[in-house]
Amino acid sequence: MSELNLEQLRSRLDGINCNLLELLSERAQIVQEIGHLKETQGVPKFDPVREKHMLEQLVASNKGPFDDETVRCLFKQIFQASLNLQLTDHKKQLLVSRKKQKEDTIISLGDVNIGGGKPIMVAGPCAVENVDQVRAVAASLKQAGITVMRGGAFKPRTSPYDFQGLGIEGLKILKDAADEFGLKTISEIVDPGHIEMACEYIDVIQIGARNMQNFELLKAAGDVRKPVLLKRGIAATIEEFLHAAEYILSRGNTQVMLIERGIRTYEKATRNTLDISAVPILKQECHLPVLVDVTHSTGRKDIFAPCAKAALAAGADGIMVEVHPEPAIALSDAAQQLNFEEFNRFLSNVKESGLLG
Ligand code: PEP
Ligand code: MN
Repeated sequence: MSELNLEQLRSRLDGINCNLLELLSERAQIVQEIGHLKETQGVPKFDPVREKHMLEQLVASNKGPFDDETVRCLFKQIFQASLNLQLTDHKKQLLVSRKKQKEDTIISLGDVNIGGGKPIMVAGPCAVENVDQVRAVAASLKQAGITVMRGGAFKPRTSPYDFQGLGIEGLKILKDAADEFGLKTISEIVDPGHIEMACEYIDVIQIGARNMQNFELLKAAGDVRKPVLLKRGIAATIEEFLHAAEYILSRGNTQVMLIERGIRTYEKATRNTLDISAVPILKQECHLPVLVDVTHSTGRKDIFAPCAKAALAAGADGIMVEVHPEPAIALSDAAQQLNFEEFNRFLSNVKESGLLG
């Protein structure tokens, strides 16, 4: 083959490449239109029957020199790329997506802001047990400069025989102590029917890990205009976590924060596995504040401080930790709540890093 021939053939190939690309791009635009249509109709993006049919058509009109298997292989790649395009488009359209909203969502609890650059420390007992216990925690937190107190009144426990929380009475105790000491409150709600009532008592509705995909609860939380702290499910992927948040935003409640609280893995050294990588990924993919719960993720007081610092270094907007006047006699999570002295030491340790602001 002469030099000239090779050059000519190559230039024909270059031309064909351009034509192919143009056709592929045209095809991709149609694929995107189909994706949008499917989105509005709620139809799944992947349609194996349609894909099989297209491959059969292609193989039937294959005149070579590629064999049928190669044709199938080539087009399957195109189909996969097309599906990826539709899935990426879908993600971009989510209300939680950073592509939809570039600026960080900042949750404002009166004079306390969460998100937007200055990380926060949220602390408080695992469960509201009685007035004295919550007042003691509130006083201690106030003295330490903490502005947001957590405390569970409805406790989702593994065993039905364990302390289930004080219910509405617990919310009242939390509110009274918070009002007395000028703190904001976060408490878990487990029943969609309690969401509206809870708004009167607390500043942030927590949806716990076990309820991350309780869709009726998510919808009810989406229907009120109260900030929501959504915990990552025990075995939830980041995608599932974001879709759970989308349930709330899609009903009009845009005041949502996410909290990584550890996922279940084979590792036994910690209670759960703290997925630090979830923090920068969530920060990249969505505009909502992202917190990290060091208590339920690690279950180990001895590593709360390094894990909190790692979370803040990874971009977390806040840390949550459990504090109890006398952890040894706590009605839940006795082994992993800090007493006041331990909490103050933990707080100074984290503050020394300069990451808490
Ligand atoms: C809690 O924060 O009180 C709690 C029960 O945590 P989780 O839902 O993450 O287990
Ligand atoms: Mn707890």
